[in-house]
Amino acid sequence: MLNVSHLTKKYHKFVANDNLTFMVKDGETAVLAGPNGAGKSTAIKCIAGLLRFDGEIELCGHKNKTIEAKKILGYVPEIPAPFELLTVWEHMEFIARAYQLEDWQDRANELMRRLELTDKKDKLGKELSKGMQQKISICCAMLIEPKILLFDEPLVGLDPHAIKELKLMLGEMKAKGTTIVISTHMLDSVEGVWDRVFIMMNGRIEAERTRVQVEETGENLEELFFSITEKKE
Ligand code: ADP
Repeated sequence: MLNVSHLTKKYHKFVANDNLTFMVKDGETAVLAGPNGAGKSTAIKCIAGLLRFDGEIELCGHKNKTIEAKKILGYVPEIPAPFELLTVWEHMEFIARAYQLEDWQDRANELMRRLELTDKKDKLGKELSKGMQQKISICCAMLIEPKILLFDEPLVGLDPHAIKELKLMLGEMKAKGTTIVISTHMLDSVEGVWDRVFIMMNGRIEAERTRVQVEETGENLEELFFSITEKKE
């Protein structure tokens, strides 16, 4: 479970996240939706413990900067940053050692097979295309079988096969009780995946809906999105 309470992040005087409070339950997939600049990446980086912020963030009851929280967190950044001089397989090995995983090899091979990285196993990080680098990030995040998984714009730059496979993988993680948070500026891209959506604008959450609510009321989510994000000041 992810608990974000009164999260405020300023870059100097600019408020990128303005008092965000939200919760995502075990086995729930939440989407942070909003246009470019809404503050989605900032929120994800704060949750991942990469930025200083005001407020409180807990991952399964652990403050997000503790080692207990880091052990259960998988994070796929918007811009992949593989190690230039490690091969694809060495990335898996590095993560396995850092997280002290046991019997991880079969799982690593299976993740690589599903994302079509097997024939790139011995290629260096710097020799890979952006999409392949993105796939390494996904494999690394999933290898540890995290309880909380953060995806910053995960589908940008992936090929259709990888998108299909990733959506299947997300479903499997969800079934195991993983809490998943995905940021996107394209609501269509996460159709069929989400349980809860937060629509962000100017650093604030302007609306929250669950899938059940939207199905019951028949509300058009796209219209809601544009009514918030294209509102005239
Ligand atoms: P999103 O992910 O929704 O596109 P971001 O969280 O990346 O939005 O950015 C939110 C706002 O914060 C934007 O106006 C952006 O220009 C600003 N911002 C992001 N990172 C920095 C930074 N390192 N320094 C200053 N401003 C930043």
